[in-house]
Amino acid sequence: QTAIKFENVNKSYGKLQALAEINLNIKQGEFFGLLGPNGAGKSTLIGILGGLVNKDSGQITVLDKDIIANYRETKKSLGIVPQEITFDPYFTVRETLAIQSGYFGIKDNSDKIDELLQALSLEDKADIGPRQLSGGMKRRLLIAKALVHDPEIIVLDEPTAGVDVELRNSLWEYVLQLNEQGKTIILTTHYLEEAEALCDRIAILDQGRVVKVDSKENLINSI
Ligand code: ADP
Ligand code: ADP
Repeated sequence: QTAIKFENVNKSYGKLQALAEINLNIKQGEFFGLLGPNGAGKSTLIGILGGLVNKDSGQITVLDKDIIANYRETKKSLGIVPQEITFDPYFTVRETLAIQSGYFGIKDNSDKIDELLQALSLEDKADIGPRQLSGGMKRRLLIAKALVHDPEIIVLDEPTAGVDVELRNSLWEYVLQLNEQGKTIILTTHYLEEAEALCDRIAILDQGRVVKVDSKENLINSI
């Protein structure tokens, strides 16, 4: 039932405590929001989940398995869409997605790749390189790349930061669709409006601490 559990997670950068005793229990199928201002610790938390940042202490389980002891297995259950966009310039959109599939041991993933290209309106861009993509197209490719292995749990770190309204709306619609298909979604944002539009339950993060966790309805009524 539990998709991801954070227990007493701590992380400091020198004297700065970026995360302090984080406890969160995210259920399977839930659309969960991590809402907080810049510097609250959202990216650090996602970085620890993705294995890019080392925590100082605490435990994280994905589908009841410890992420350190079961690194490869838990990695397959997660699709993490980072905030920063970087692609290898030498590969086309389709090649980028095929290479990513290869990391997960999927040899021929063309059906899934076609499905993602279509869902994210990138089918015309399949054979061009990332340098020829607009910012919005790159953001959509970043999402497709995180989904090639059809993960159970999808984590999006500020997916609409710096995105225009039209793309924002289509991304909102797409992640809601994924959630309706049964995927667990975790989304970080500093926009209350975004958390309100999408999430079932929201954790408010401030200066590395979870200040509050509640259903969207209860949170809005208390503001
Ligand atoms: P965001 O706006 O998403 O929080 P930042 O611009 O703060 O992004 O961070 C971009 C990158 O720089 C991240 O990889 C983050 O880990 C790193 N970073 C952020 N703050 C610091 C800092 N004070 N010292 C060193 N690296 C930092
Ligand atoms: P958010 O994603 O909520 O904006 P971050 O997790 O990026 O927050 O940052 C939390 C705090 O940790 C900020 O004060 C940031 O400057 C600091 N920080 C993040 N990454 C680093 C880093 N690599 N080195 C030093 N400080 C960092």
